[in-house]
Amino acid sequence: MSTRIEGGISTRLNPNTTNLSSAGQNREVQSVGQQVQQVLFGKPKPIVLDPAKYPQVAEQLKLLRKYKKKIANMADDNEQDYDIALAQSTIAMIDAHGTIYMGLEFLMANKDHPEIILGALAHEIGHQPKRWKEYKQEHLLSKEDMELICRHEETRADIFAGTALAELGLSCEPMIEFLQAIEEGPHPEYFPAETRGEIIREAHQNRYYRQKNRRKIFPEFDRMTSIKGHLGEF
Ligand SMILES: [Zn+2]
Repeated sequence: MSTRIEGGISTRLNPNTTNLSSAGQNREVQSVGQQVQQVLFGKPKPIVLDPAKYPQVAEQLKLLRKYKKKIANMADDNEQDYDIALAQSTIAMIDAHGTIYMGLEFLMANKDHPEIILGALAHEIGHQPKRWKEYKQEHLLSKEDMELICRHEETRADIFAGTALAELGLSCEPMIEFLQAIEEGPHPEYFPAETRGEIIREAHQNRYYRQKNRRKIFPEFDRMTSIKGHLGEF
């Protein structure tokens, strides 16, 4: 895939942005959670577009809204914890309040790949920005600490995306290909696309295997638990 979205990309799915340089410098000491929230979710927000003016992505937005609840529940969150906004110049990003910005060009370029669109949604929900408020201890994080936390956080979101795709019965390979196609070089906040691909694939396989067996062995149980789409252990 050769999708390349030009200019002003601000996204958590795409590794080509950073504002780490502003992390924890010349500031009062804040809680660890606040510092991380600023770096991960405090990036400039993309321009929000009116969906009514872009009927070409109406179907994709419908798909995202349809699965938002299911994926939020998988993360033990509520549907209301997340909003979906159509945006310019981004692939997918989430802010500290749970608004998920989905890029117009990204949605158009991947209109025939619901696995990629839902994989991006799952990755963003996997960040669960609200949970960072729970980290109340106060000490200044170094740039290295922050990079480590970011890599860990991105990995968590990738694992969640792989797991969620499996639970939805969708392949993770198109998303992995997409991540490889948009990679432009090493980035301190992310593992290389190849490693991310392996992590997503492993999470997907683990869940897929369980999901298949569960369906085979406990069809009734599956029907009962799948309504909420909960990813908890069974
Ligand atoms: Zn991310």
